[in-house]
Amino acid sequence: MAKTALVTGSTSGIGLGIAEALCAAGYDVMLHGSRPARDAEELRSRLSNAHGTRVAYHAADVSRAGTVAGLIAATESELGPIDVLVNNAGIQHVAPIEDFPDDKWNAILAVNLTSAFHAIKLVVPGMKQRKWGRIINVASAHALVASPFKAAYVTAKHGLLGLTKTVALEVAEHGVTCNAICPGYVLTPLVQKQIPDTARSRGISEDAVVRDVMLAPQATKQFVTVEQLGGLAVFLTTNAASQITGAALPVDGGWTAH
Ligand code: NAD
Repeated sequence: MAKTALVTGSTSGIGLGIAEALCAAGYDVMLHGSRPARDAEELRSRLSNAHGTRVAYHAADVSRAGTVAGLIAATESELGPIDVLVNNAGIQHVAPIEDFPDDKWNAILAVNLTSAFHAIKLVVPGMKQRKWGRIINVASAHALVASPFKAAYVTAKHGLLGLTKTVALEVAEHGVTCNAICPGYVLTPLVQKQIPDTARSRGISEDAVVRDVMLAPQATKQFVTVEQLGGLAVFLTTNAASQITGAALPVDGGWTAH
């Protein structure tokens, strides 16, 4: 029987890339996003038909307390126990610290960090019982280094890495690994949206944001792709990766080598 994976925030960008790679590797996959199910039906059936695996979809705003439990329950009732949990849902807001809106701080911490805590807490008992599990947290290069004007995001991602290491130690003897993937810039809707905000915060053009802010620290001068991140996520589910745990795995074109 196929194993089951839940990928949070998988209606677009990196989460969708990881979900698609897991489908291609034979996993049954629960897609998740904040938008209503009818919008995601096309996506769900495209992945299922392309890869011949079971694909379901559940909408839940994980910034609201208690919604993660419903997402986990829906996954288990529709597809079976969760073998692979990918905590990927994330949002961003770019502003100087003195202007940083309180509601954006709270939302970013809730979506990027607290939702992962709740999901991990709920799936770990079953993974331990079945003696196998993979928890993959999509952190960021910003889990390892900071950039100005991203106070909440950098804080949440550093926190997510701390959570990753702690959980890895707690579950290490139960056949469960917990790792953080730390991407550099990937040209997804999340990044496209922050180009004009960063241009405003820094007083530079949008072209300059891409060239001098986003790609400047990436030694390759290229964006990372969602397919590359999907490939790494699938690798982390294999036996070859069973001794990789508690790790921060940069996929950042050399950014954090500086
Ligand atoms: P994206 O905007 O394309 O996708 C974000 C996903 O999260 C969507 O599916 C959206 O529905 C979901 N989401 C957002 N808020 C939600 C909420 N309140 N409840 C439920 N779902 C919600 O973004 P992306 O660039 O693919 O980012 C995915 C993850 O990768 C994020 O955690 C992000 O921090 C991280 N990341 C992105 C980059 C990058 O350059 N794009 C780099 C490093 C890390």
